[in-house]
Amino acid sequence: MSSVTHHIPDHILTAYAAGSLSHVYSVVVAAHISMCDECRARLGAQEAMGGVVMEQQSADLSADLKASVLDMLDDPVPDTPVYARQGVFPSPVMAELKGQKPKWKSLGLGVKQSILHSGPEGSVRLLSIPPGQAVPDHSHGGLELTLVLQGSFSDESGRFGVGDVEVADEDVDHIPIAGVEATCICLAATDAPLQFKGLMPRLLQPIFDI
Ligand SMILES: [Zn+2]
Repeated sequence: MSSVTHHIPDHILTAYAAGSLSHVYSVVVAAHISMCDECRARLGAQEAMGGVVMEQQSADLSADLKASVLDMLDDPVPDTPVYARQGVFPSPVMAELKGQKPKWKSLGLGVKQSILHSGPEGSVRLLSIPPGQAVPDHSHGGLELTLVLQGSFSDESGRFGVGDVEVADEDVDHIPIAGVEATCICLAATDAPLQFKGLMPRLLQPIFDI
């Protein structure tokens, strides 16, 4: 997709290629790679380099063991079922949904979320934000990766369209606003459960001073 302007940073792509990136971020990286020729090529180069390092490091290993290890590298997840892309959801998202439709839950003001996976290592979810709507005020403990699947959003750091990834750490105090052209659907991963503070208390704050 040539319109992508915000890509996966090098250190995250390297961790993904090495298989050391946690599951929730890996879903976002895999989804981006499925939409971005540039990052797919970068990943190919990373994996080729990893293979060369493996060849060099395994010079002392027996030929049989070396062959089987390199075989495993070629096919790291043999038992994962493959789901086809459906609508705006790329195959890594369909794999999380296990081929089903998202189970949307309302967060208020038309904003919805569907949690794909939540565990000790963090969570990955779909967010649906009506055109022109601000994303509810939220905090996140660490790194947040957000990939746009439909529409767009903008915040202080720029505009993010389909295929773009925003990388925000805990220092970023951002209030993303969905573009007016369409409902914005995003895939977002954090390493801590995302805490939405809720819209009503915040909206009532100036009135009741709570
Ligand atoms: Zn990319």
